Amino acid sequence: MTPPALFRGPLPPSMAVLLVALLVLATPVLAGTLVNARCPCGYHTQRMPLFGGRANFRTVCLFPALCPTSHALVLVNLLDPEAPSPQCPGGKALPYTDPSLAPQVGGPVVTSWNVRDRGLSVQLFSHGYRCPRCGRPTLSFSFAGNWD
Ligand SMILES: [Zn+2]
Repeated sequence: MTPPALFRGPLPPSMAVLLVALLVLATPVLAGTLVNARCPCGYHTQRMPLFGGRANFRTVCLFPALCPTSHALVLVNLLDPEAPSPQCPGGKALPYTDPSLAPQVGGPVVTSWNVRDRGLSVQLFSHGYRCPRCGRPTLSFSFAGNWD
């Protein structure tokens, strides 16, 4: 008795389609990153939602920024840099991608984001950022999860 055709020849087209579908479904969905920030001076924030979620990643890329009026970390949309940050009333929040706030020597990359059709590519390093409270380059970020 000959074995069924399925086990003899190359993968039948229907199986190949199923395999491709499974691989596509298995790739991670585009999700933003939650990060914690901490400085030895005691300043800290928890679970800041960075980048974009499934519904808004084409128009929104949230990134930590320093608010000079409230001396706090806030979020700004890198895809709409002129929009005022509601968390920074009376001031212009400066994103941590700015060379004056970014680390001289970045630690390991905590998380990164690309919006290819907008030419945007950003990375958040683990430490060396300017602290909004004490002003020293001792603010560090750590991964705290994903959101979508
Ligand atoms: Zn500090």
